[in-house]
Amino acid sequence: MNRLSLVPSLLHHSRASRETLLRFQDRQLRRVIRHAYANVPYYRRLFDSAGVRPEHIRTSADMYRIPITTKNDLRGLPPEDVVARGVDPQKLISHTTGGSSGEPFVVRRSWMEERILGVPRIRTLLYYGLRRHDVVALLIFNHKSNPNDYQLPQRLMQKIHRVKAQWIHCLVPPEEMLEQLAAIQPEVLGGYAGVLSRLSQLVKEPGRPSIRPRMVLTGGETLTPFMSRQISEAFNAPVYDTYGSHEFSRTAWQCKETGEYHVCDDAVLLEVLRDDQPVAIGERGEVVGTALHSFAMPFIRYRLGDIVTRGKESCACGQPFSTLREIQGRMVDYFPLPDGRLLHPYEIASALQNSAMRWVGQYRIVQERKDCIVLLAVPAIAPTVEQLSELEALAGKVLGPTVRFHVRLVDGLELGKRGKFRVYQSLVHSAYDNPGEPVAEGELAESTSGGSSELR
Ligand SMILES: [Zn+2]
Repeated sequence: MNRLSLVPSLLHHSRASRETLLRFQDRQLRRVIRHAYANVPYYRRLFDSAGVRPEHIRTSADMYRIPITTKNDLRGLPPEDVVARGVDPQKLISHTTGGSSGEPFVVRRSWMEERILGVPRIRTLLYYGLRRHDVVALLIFNHKSNPNDYQLPQRLMQKIHRVKAQWIHCLVPPEEMLEQLAAIQPEVLGGYAGVLSRLSQLVKEPGRPSIRPRMVLTGGETLTPFMSRQISEAFNAPVYDTYGSHEFSRTAWQCKETGEYHVCDDAVLLEVLRDDQPVAIGERGEVVGTALHSFAMPFIRYRLGDIVTRGKESCACGQPFSTLREIQGRMVDYFPLPDGRLLHPYEIASALQNSAMRWVGQYRIVQERKDCIVLLAVPAIAPTVEQLSELEALAGKVLGPTVRFHVRLVDGLELGKRGKFRVYQSLVHSAYDNPGEPVAEGELAESTSGGSSELR
């Protein structure tokens, strides 16, 4: 199969009928299932253990036969167990989640898969009204190009659409970020909800440079109605939210008419489950997804961990996509420090990454007081005293001498009562505990388990 032939379908599905869309979904589903059973040892074992053969899965209605896979099931496995036979993991483009998640994990895709998954993203931008010659400014965490990701097609796309993308690292101080944005004057401003919310407070201060984007796109973190209003007023532009993950790339995007979310049914088969059973429309459940274009490293009935409210089967605006009413995704607080800095917690997370965190199964970073930050860690293997002090030393480099950082070992991190993930939470000040989103007593003690998130 020439997978590039999928591109026109993906671009035009917003005008297709629901039936056409579902036919496409089931066809891709059968391809992925057949492929995974034949080529990926982990899925071969999983299917065999449940007595499932690829021919049992004809449509999405048959998926209940396949056991659900969690991140923990895949995390400890060697690449050759989860990557398809004949594919060299070294040649794949890998995304290490952990920047915004409580469980470090590597997602791998081929160059072609990356390109195909880029199509729904382009489709979303065109839907929101991206025009030729627009300048897009993105405030995101990481834009280092992957050595296996040749940028040529993206450059061609930019040439054809004449769209210019500029990245600003979200850890740049907000004042400086605003100066840079004023120099760029983007038509489209995109970034994490928390970063844009912080920026929108700054924009209102007298004497600050003004920027006038035509639209603001948020993603990667929960956007509350309060934050959406705040950002929209500050930039005098509509705010549209998108939802995605490293595992599934673009998964949903906000409808311009209804405010609900269109699900990317042609890239991911999304199930909303509670106790492993589908929830009714209007009910809240956990996201379990099957990636329809990931063959190098398949994700089949993979529990992402996010909580969403299921919406109607197709959107009232006339587009054929199924909908989500609400996404209770991730909340990331800034930490106000005694020295006056407002620290983005990714800065701590990136200081702690990789080798030093190897023993950590899951984590949560909580600012308990202005001068005290705690890493709650569920050990995957028991850490040594040296490993604990290594983490504290790494964090100390970012936090400075006025803040105490310590690691607290815990048995588990539970999902909060309202199903909200707070991997990074400040008990000193939280944008999420503002008027639009009152927090009940006891929620401060909420713990988290989490999917990985990315602005996509
Ligand atoms: Zn719609």
